[in-house]
Amino acid sequence: MAELELDAALLSVGADLPWLTGYTAMPLERLTMLVLPRNSPATLVVPRLEAPRVEPVEDLFAVRPWEETDDPIAVVAALLEASDAGARAPRLAVSDRTWAAFVLRLQDALPGARWTPASTVTGPLRAVKDEAEVGALARAGAAADRVAAQLIGGEIRLIGRTEADVSREIGDRLRAEGHQAVNFAIVASGPNSASPHHDAGDRVIRPGEAVVCDFGGTLDGYCSDITRTVFTGPPPGEYEEVYEVVRAAQAAGVAAARAGTAAEAVDATSRARIADAGYGEFFIHRTGHGIGREEHEDPYLVRGNRIALRPGHAFSVEPGIYLPGRFGVRIEDIVVVAGDGSPRPLNQADHALAVVEA
Ligand code: ZN
Ligand code: ZN
Ligand code: ZN
Repeated sequence: MAELELDAALLSVGADLPWLTGYTAMPLERLTMLVLPRNSPATLVVPRLEAPRVEPVEDLFAVRPWEETDDPIAVVAALLEASDAGARAPRLAVSDRTWAAFVLRLQDALPGARWTPASTVTGPLRAVKDEAEVGALARAGAAADRVAAQLIGGEIRLIGRTEADVSREIGDRLRAEGHQAVNFAIVASGPNSASPHHDAGDRVIRPGEAVVCDFGGTLDGYCSDITRTVFTGPPPGEYEEVYEVVRAAQAAGVAAARAGTAAEAVDATSRARIADAGYGEFFIHRTGHGIGREEHEDPYLVRGNRIALRPGHAFSVEPGIYLPGRFGVRIEDIVVVAGDGSPRPLNQADHALAVVEA
């Protein structure tokens, strides 16, 4: 905050608050906000009825419950006024997920303040995972791997079921393998597999189709995210060719993800493999995203992101090819840059072309 000349951070719902304090705010019309001045003690402003859920951390922050008839915006403004930030027109960082309804009222209450997203401070810090965070990501990854192995191994029946039904089963299995929450379970079959974020619906999966399954959940506060594409029955030659291009592009991206490499260079490596095979126009998204307390966070593996990867960075490598109206293939693993600078995949589920017969 000193480097960025910020006077205070205001952290509401989203991952910044639990990352700093261990407390997750309910996404409510009642405001929860950590008021964190650069040089004065921090205070967690929290609705009275939520206060029992706060685990106090005495050296870290005071707790200021507000009653149903109090104005929490005025409470936050008064705390800022009383802090070292109060003397001047403060520069304030507000957490990216804070509801606009609160930000607009805060801007009215603090007319002299200048505002910036808190991710300018927290993004680069949260992107570098410590040992405990890498451990949690690895446990989440291993749990997702077990579900992926069940999918590839044919334990999850596909043919004759709706995408939504299979999606529900994948979610149940993510929980059974240790996730506390399921964040998403994309099941995209046949032509739907050419839509990267397809919503699993009532389409019935048939023999002779590509099925893209992309799923993840939260385990001990950290996220998993894995994609495997399977084929129902013997695949045609074109599918085999596309699958092999994606498999090679994903492996090349992982191998390139070493400390010192620019994030955009990993994207360029995977993209070049796909372009060289003639499918460049059908790879319609970035190669990857950081992962941690959120499914998508810094660093993003995308053209234009020149930040150098460093030990502790954790991100997905997930190239895909999507042929509109026909089929798509995506393969995704989470990778962390290890202490020695090498890429360490946190997913081990098989990458070989998988055929399921049921
Ligand atoms: Zn995605
Ligand atoms: Zn994914
Ligand atoms: Zn992903």
